[in-house]
Amino acid sequence: MAVEQSDAIVLRVIPWSETSLIAHIYTRDFGKLSVLAKGARRPKSPFEAALDLLSICRVVFIAKGSDALDLLTEAKLTRRFRGGARELLRLYAGYYVAELLERLTDKQDRQPEIFDLAEATLAAISEPDQELAGVVLRWELQMLRLVGHLPSLRRCAHCGQDVADGPWWVFGTLASGVLCASCQVGQRQMIRVPSGAIDEMEQFSNSSWREIDISGLSPQHRSVIRGVVTRYLTVLLDRKLQMHPFLEELGR
Ligand SMILES: [Zn+2]
Repeated sequence: MAVEQSDAIVLRVIPWSETSLIAHIYTRDFGKLSVLAKGARRPKSPFEAALDLLSICRVVFIAKGSDALDLLTEAKLTRRFRGGARELLRLYAGYYVAELLERLTDKQDRQPEIFDLAEATLAAISEPDQELAGVVLRWELQMLRLVGHLPSLRRCAHCGQDVADGPWWVFGTLASGVLCASCQVGQRQMIRVPSGAIDEMEQFSNSSWREIDISGLSPQHRSVIRGVVTRYLTVLLDRKLQMHPFLEELGR
């Protein structure tokens, strides 16, 4: 048993007993963890208010290894998520950060860049002058990039050849990317996408994610890009994501 510490984002909090909680957290140094917080439901808890949903905190825990729950011994609040106080849509966007972290990452898969991206995304959601549709698209495409599931946007996802340039492209959600004319034959679940929307998706997939211009998502492509990313994630995860219906408005 080792005592570890890390920065963490609170993804989910579940009552465990009259006095204890189980928290799902995404840590910068250890990836996703489930921790038992004994006494967290007492009025004078050792964790104070650090274990609120989407809070960023500094945690100390005893790693139990294998399948046992790690034991949280300390959690100090660094920053509370403020997006919900601004507007409902920003609150849903915050929930969506937690949802994708839960769904797209595996336990103990250490990827500090995912933490940094999530932290920057929660901060941007909380800023009213940050374009929410752009913040959410960057979050989605960058998460896909970091977990190795970015769809193919220039080469045919089926045969690997460069797709001939044209005003319209065809995106196959089952094929995981754009399709050349010959590979479209017999494919299912295809979406016609204007080439400008493919360009914008590519910009938002850039590995220098801190440099992405969040306001660079043009109004005429919002709807089609929202549709492509929503359907792609639904197929990839083989489930409807809870937050997708609430985020449809971002495509308008
Ligand atoms: Zn092809």
